[in-house]
Amino acid sequence: MKTLLITGANRGVGLALTKVYLKAGWQVLATCRVPSQADELQSLTLRYRSLTIFALDVTDYTQVNQLASQLNGQVVDVLLNNAAIYGPKGYKFGECDETAWRAVFETNVIAPIKLAEAFITHIEASELKTIAAISSRVGSQTENTKGGGYLYRSSKAALNSSIKSLSNDLLPQGIKTVSLHPGWVKTTMGGPNALIDAQESAEGLKQVIDNLQDAQSGGFYSYQGEEIAW
Ligand code: NDP
Repeated sequence: MKTLLITGANRGVGLALTKVYLKAGWQVLATCRVPSQADELQSLTLRYRSLTIFALDVTDYTQVNQLASQLNGQVVDVLLNNAAIYGPKGYKFGECDETAWRAVFETNVIAPIKLAEAFITHIEASELKTIAAISSRVGSQTENTKGGGYLYRSSKAALNSSIKSLSNDLLPQGIKTVSLHPGWVKTTMGGPNALIDAQESAEGLKQVIDNLQDAQSGGFYSYQGEEIAW
């Protein structure tokens, strides 16, 4: 049985990914900030003995390291960094709030790399040896024709850059890394006018991860498998 470790599993794309992996017969180590309030995730434990839920605020690096120690000896085939924040909406040039910007970077850029560091031995011991990060198309430099979105855009661009560095550092050890755009998804972050539901996004993302080749490591792909320009 393959094992997924995922962050932000209580709602949105993270919850949908959890369901898709459980349905496919995987063991899922699902993390979220407040498990006692994660009703839908908790209800899945009644159907799936392969699901275990852990408390994890991804920006609490003590908690990250404690979880890695608690799971010592547990292999992790896929580490899926899904948790993220958008930050306050509507910031334009001249209005950027540096405190909010730092918080967005903490969650969206630093935390995924700290998780990779903490769980590297668990991943290295697995068969699939994969680190995936849910990024966003708005992090593409090439596709940025509108400007704005300083906090979130820059965080996803930095995440992509960090995933590329991880690939250069870790592919020699057989560990593949990838940045993934989930589509515009109907979640709290994506809003009600988004184009696809979370299940469609999650099914596509899993397929891309399942078929990931060494040559694609460090790349940036959509949930439909299309390569996105940096
Ligand atoms: P949601 O806002 O619906 O969910 C965000 C998730 O991240 C929640 O589970 C939230 O937990 C969790 N989270 C935030 N901060 C932390 C933290 N410090 N520690 C642990 N968990 C945290 O977003 P989506 O499901 O839409 O987004 C999932 C991913 O997809 C994100 O990386 C996002 O950037 C990306 N994305 C989404 C798009 C969309 O259209 N929806 C488009 C492009 C990219 P809590 O409930 O505790 O707040």
